[in-house]
Amino acid sequence: LPCAITPCRLLLGECVTDLIRHGKQLALLSDNGRAISVQLGMTGRLWMPKTPDDASAQERHVHIMWTLESGRMLFCDARRFGSVEAFPNRDVLQSVKWNVLGPDALTITGPELHRSLGITHRAIKAALLDQSVLAGVGNIYADEALFRARISPHVPASYLDADACARVATCIREVLELGIMRGGSTIRDYRDGRGEAGSMQDEFLVYGRGGMPCNVCEQQLTSGTVAQRTTVWCETCQKNRLSR
Ligand SMILES: [Zn+2]
Repeated sequence: LPCAITPCRLLLGECVTDLIRHGKQLALLSDNGRAISVQLGMTGRLWMPKTPDDASAQERHVHIMWTLESGRMLFCDARRFGSVEAFPNRDVLQSVKWNVLGPDALTITGPELHRSLGITHRAIKAALLDQSVLAGVGNIYADEALFRARISPHVPASYLDADACARVATCIREVLELGIMRGGSTIRDYRDGRGEAGSMQDEFLVYGRGGMPCNVCEQQLTSGTVAQRTTVWCETCQKNRLSR
């Protein structure tokens, strides 16, 4: 079971030997085997300020501060949807927390996605957001990937054949890789670990563009709610029906 978070559980005096990730979950591993999992949620971030002064503006949102040989590392979270948990070792982290996650989105293949979607009749957008089906895709990247794959967010996931799954898997990997290259999307206040803003927001083809012209066909993009999330798609480019 997860250990209570106390200063000595936070790897005090230990050496961080590895950083691992599955989907949206991160973990720091230490040389004595302990693991700290970090879930960033909406506004959480791990931050290594370049100078001591850097941290002052963020001070009220700092929940944890580690002093490392190379400087300080902070866990900040303005809206508190994030979390930090301690585990006695990597195996417990895996069995308690990560075993419920689907395959990782950054390396997902067509056959893996096809298998993971299974026979669910939920809309493909809802299935992609379900972390037990696929780990690592959120609202922005689901919309961007489905647009690039030319598949409507409403299509029942079970309608996607092997070819469609291969297309969606490729587009998911592409938009995530682009997002990483661009340092993430800074829509409001996101900053990476070095305090830099991302520029993925400049690459969005649909997200946040409801009512604006589609970059491909110039028809107005539609905005609506799918899987309880604001969703933007092109009625012309993204097909509702797929051959099975
Ligand atoms: Zn279009």
